[in-house]
Amino acid sequence: MAWFRDWRRKRVLRRSAIDDDLWRRVIERHGFLRVLSQDERVRLRDQVLLFLHEKSMHGAGGLVVRDDMRVAIAAQACMLILNLDIDYYRGWADIIVYPDEFVAEYEYTDDDGVVHAVREPMTGESWLAGPVILSWADAEGAGQATGYNVVMHEFAHKIDMLNGDANGYPPLHADMDRREWVRAFTQAYEDFSAAVERGEGTAIDSYAAEHPSEFFAVMSETFFDLPTVAQAQYPQVYAQLARFYRQDPVARLRQAGNLVQAHGG
Ligand SMILES: [Zn+2]
Repeated sequence: MAWFRDWRRKRVLRRSAIDDDLWRRVIERHGFLRVLSQDERVRLRDQVLLFLHEKSMHGAGGLVVRDDMRVAIAAQACMLILNLDIDYYRGWADIIVYPDEFVAEYEYTDDDGVVHAVREPMTGESWLAGPVILSWADAEGAGQATGYNVVMHEFAHKIDMLNGDANGYPPLHADMDRREWVRAFTQAYEDFSAAVERGEGTAIDSYAAEHPSEFFAVMSETFFDLPTVAQAQYPQVYAQLARFYRQDPVARLRQAGNLVQAHGG
């Protein structure tokens, strides 16, 4: 059915558009989009059109989702799959956007059989086969090379969950070695968790120490938003992510830098 899928996608692309000015503003606002080559921008724009066609974005808590929010969220989500396929986001349809942090309520039973009701403020959440939930206040400032990106974080969880519960082990490509992935991530996670436990300041968000799935999501954010830090801290994890996402953001930065120099000279 590949021909049918391709035909349908081409039809969607023919029939939909993003305003040129709006697209330019979204690119300008995010450092990791500004360094994309012309080819990559064209490909990203197509992915964004397909993404917006397949997903519904809803405002919650009084938020009205504007077009620039819609495109900014879609562009960041599609950065992860720029060299993969829109099918990496299959099996769910809804994105819910709150104006600010939202409160998640859940119950759990402890070892003594006591049930606790928890209310926790959240900036983002991804449900298995369910929606992605985002705080716009936290998504809005993305792209300033801080290593913090709630949209990429939640969509990395979505990719991780393609093969079941989030565990930091997404479905790898046929040309990747499962043992190399596990070795790189296990060593880095143990090293990072120990550093956090010792109370050391870390260049990567300490939230990554919570669980291997959070380590994968935070390393993915860092990989795209602060690639030189991701590579310097955990070169083997960086190499695995580069093979998985089929992108090399450090090389891209270097290339963009060289382009600036060439123009300047
Ligand atoms: Zn997370």
